[in-house]
Amino acid sequence: MADEKITQTDEQWREQLTPEQYEITRRAGTEAAFTGEYHDCEAEGSYVCVCCGSELFDSRAKFDSGSGWPSFAAPTSEDGVQTETDSSHGMGRTEVKCRRCDAHLGHVFEDGPAPTGLRYCINSASLKLNARG
Ligand code: FE
Repeated sequence: MADEKITQTDEQWREQLTPEQYEITRRAGTEAAFTGEYHDCEAEGSYVCVCCGSELFDSRAKFDSGSGWPSFAAPTSEDGVQTETDSSHGMGRTEVKCRRCDAHLGHVFEDGPAPTGLRYCINSASLKLNARG
């Protein structure tokens, strides 16, 4: 069963998040490639939403796409994320959001590795790694 939706005012998100986290998750921003905390992180663990703590991705699904952003072949659970068509910037892309709190996470592309063929291209600033062990 999906967790209950989390809704907070813009003000509350601003107080809770760093300016960069706020810009990316609540304003659909994008961090510069190769600058984020996790793009070359190989630690084992669960990546949760920086806004609400919902489990989104696992290091087991992470791969090095060379893009400069953390890349995953699949979410931990289809319940964790939702996708939406994003036609901003003149591109037909598919936006990935946290299902629980609507945080902008990144985009999903169809050039990932088998078996999913998907590449979830996610901003480090949207994530927090809960390391295992
Ligand atoms: Fe969230």
